[in-house]
Amino acid sequence: MNIAESAALKQILKGRGWVAAESGEEADLVLLNTCSVRLTAETRALGRLDHYAALKKKRSAQGHSFVIVLAGCMAERLGARIREKRGEIDYVMGTAARSLFPQILEEAEQGLAAGEFTAKKAFLASEGFQFSFSPSHIEEETGEGGPVRSFIPIMHGCNNFCSYCIVPYVRGPEISRSPASILAETRLAGGKGIREITLLGQNVNSYNWVGGGLNEEGIDAGGFDFPGLLELVAGEAEQTAVGWVRFLSSHPRDFSPRAVQVMADHPVFCRHLHLCVQHGADAVLKAMNRRYTREEYLELVSAIRRAMPGITLSTDILVGFPGETEADLEATLSLMDEVKFLYAYMYHYNPREGTSAYTLPGRIPEQVKRRRLARVIEKQKQHTGELLRARIGSREKVLIEGISRKNADELITRTEKDETAVVRGKHSLIGRFAEITLASLHGNTFRAEGLRIVD
Ligand code: SF4
Repeated sequence: MNIAESAALKQILKGRGWVAAESGEEADLVLLNTCSVRLTAETRALGRLDHYAALKKKRSAQGHSFVIVLAGCMAERLGARIREKRGEIDYVMGTAARSLFPQILEEAEQGLAAGEFTAKKAFLASEGFQFSFSPSHIEEETGEGGPVRSFIPIMHGCNNFCSYCIVPYVRGPEISRSPASILAETRLAGGKGIREITLLGQNVNSYNWVGGGLNEEGIDAGGFDFPGLLELVAGEAEQTAVGWVRFLSSHPRDFSPRAVQVMADHPVFCRHLHLCVQHGADAVLKAMNRRYTREEYLELVSAIRRAMPGITLSTDILVGFPGETEADLEATLSLMDEVKFLYAYMYHYNPREGTSAYTLPGRIPEQVKRRRLARVIEKQKQHTGELLRARIGSREKVLIEGISRKNADELITRTEKDETAVVRGKHSLIGRFAEITLASLHGNTFRAEGLRIVD
């Protein structure tokens, strides 16, 4: 989401004639688009902010300053307080106020031109600003072969209030983007030669456009739920250069049987799903307010695998939640054994002020959290290795995404199952679909051979 929204902000900058500076030393404006989802992301953003604040002071003393705009979830969460503490920030632009960016830029441009810049403002949801979607989130930077993949936000915000999560507080309630606007961006992506799109939302499965959908397209203006939208996007993508469609994040509770069926019916949907489980013990899932049980999650996994044999799954796992016992940890490890995820994002719990879990008793000591996390990571490593090794020798369709960082003669490719493979080939093939044979495994990356272009 951060990448997609940053791309949209970059487009606004570019449209007003701004160009990327080589460094903060040369910048007239620094835009920090922050993420709040984990404490570590915020800590990193604050470190970056301190760096630019110090640079701003130094440059001001030399008679050249720059404007600092703090955007994104951290801006929304810490609000005006952060600007009071760090006086160098000129604008705090919360997630709900992103549409004000052109205005902020105009004011900044005038201030910079006049050489006197005194604006100190915060724009936050609490002041009544409402989120609106940008028309395009396509990265403009074109590496060799141009951009290959793009993100398309379809909804924003979350109503789930998982007890550990800050997102509903910084992103606000769910808002769905109009199907017409999503299709227009899909078409735009196809027109720019984008080969893979990812539909984005904090919880894509609860997408719900209530009527008035596609008038301007001449299509019946009814309501659309997530499966309905998937059908529309599949139809649109199939008429463009877009060959693959992914979506994330999926909440297991809202993943309907019809969504599974639509996905299975359309080969344009990649055979990989990120399906956050978070934990394997019912008591912990309940305390997390995930609103599904271990059994329901496993039933969903079975239904998905019945409908799409060979599909790979990835997940998020959060250990060390308050009250978690050793038996709860074992339940998570056994769920991992049952599902065999291709990969997982694994974390230990950190209390976030403002969430309902913050006040829960039974916090787990750091050392114990780290030890439990290490066991989960070890288990996942074992599964990833097993699953990848079993794939050696298979012939796979891949999207050629770019040049290998380690060897400029090799191309980086990705299978629809979200596996990475490198193969020798010409740079001009970036953005093409090809077939390759997975020949060997180095770490989690395949080395492949027998490249044949298939599009
Ligand atoms: S579904 Fe839960 S974890 Fe995901 S964004 Fe919403 S509240 Fe956070």
